[in-house]
Amino acid sequence: MISVVIPMYNEAESVAALCGQVNDALATAPWSWEVVFVNDGSSDATVEKLTEQVRRFPDRFLLVDLQRNFGQTAALMAGIDHARGDIIVPMDGDLQNDPKDIARLVAKIGEGFDVVSGWRRNRQDASLRRVLPSRIANKLISVISGVHLHDYGCSLKAYRRDVLVGFRLYGEMHRFVPIFARWQGARITEMVVDHHPRQFGTSKYGLERIFKVLLDLLLVKFLTQYETKPIYVFGGVGAMFFGLSGIATIYAFFLKFFNHISFIQTPLPLMVMFGTMTGIMCILLGLIAEVLVRIYFESQGKTQYTVRKVVRQNGDAPADGKGAA
Ligand code: UDP
Ligand code: MG
Repeated sequence: MISVVIPMYNEAESVAALCGQVNDALATAPWSWEVVFVNDGSSDATVEKLTEQVRRFPDRFLLVDLQRNFGQTAALMAGIDHARGDIIVPMDGDLQNDPKDIARLVAKIGEGFDVVSGWRRNRQDASLRRVLPSRIANKLISVISGVHLHDYGCSLKAYRRDVLVGFRLYGEMHRFVPIFARWQGARITEMVVDHHPRQFGTSKYGLERIFKVLLDLLLVKFLTQYETKPIYVFGGVGAMFFGLSGIATIYAFFLKFFNHISFIQTPLPLMVMFGTMTGIMCILLGLIAEVLVRIYFESQGKTQYTVRKVVRQNGDAPADGKGAA
């Protein structure tokens, strides 16, 4: 079963057209499907309009109504938690994505991919304010994460459910799901999807999103590469400060013995102290982080690895008794 998950925040004018488009696009689909709408604390008539649609098509549509506005990422998470499908297809509810693309994404998953990322090659948004910053951000995210996709920001993607278990999303992190999935070993690819200009309502984001995305990127880099060994990061930074303090020490002695400049005539002793203190602090923070990691993994029964499958030749008999010696 395919679950299309659509977060909606003040998109009342789009609801009827959206439901019509989804119904049309999926009417002939060869698999069963559902749409999980998430009302993210809208202050307009979105929830009434969605309720009406769910009443009309109770076996296809589901509405998760959040208490207040939690943001797109949290809304998406809520939708995924309520979705029953083994393939999850998130999408925007503002008619900018085209439900006709869903079948193509799902077909690609059928070819053996775990994640198919939509790419709005002909993006229909303000070019200078939206498309350019997003281009730069996508390049940066690709380089830093080592996962090369053209369009992280595109909501329309398809995931096999298995790759979504094991991590929760916070902040503006939904765009980084392919990276998390890749780091867990998922096979990912991308596919060009249609994009339309916004017909109703306004975009919910401004330029401040750039800063949030950059900070999240830093966190993602940290989480994906050092989640199980934070002391390598803290230790590395600590080593840099020790190095700084070492260089300052050598230079201070050099000045004293060759140029006869006393220690206290330069700021070098201050730098030695500063470097040493900060280095020690970094190492200690790293130790605390190691403790936190253990609490994180062990309290939740998480593993540091992800298994695709286990193949066993002459092991224990499976529950149904087949293959017993
Ligand atoms: N959205 C949401 N909660 C928010 C902000 C946005 O559920 O706090 C939804 C919004 O209704 C839309 C999708 O997320 O369905 C993408 O938002 P938007 O179109 O404003 O982003 P843009 O396309 O401009 O990047
Ligand atoms: Mg939009």
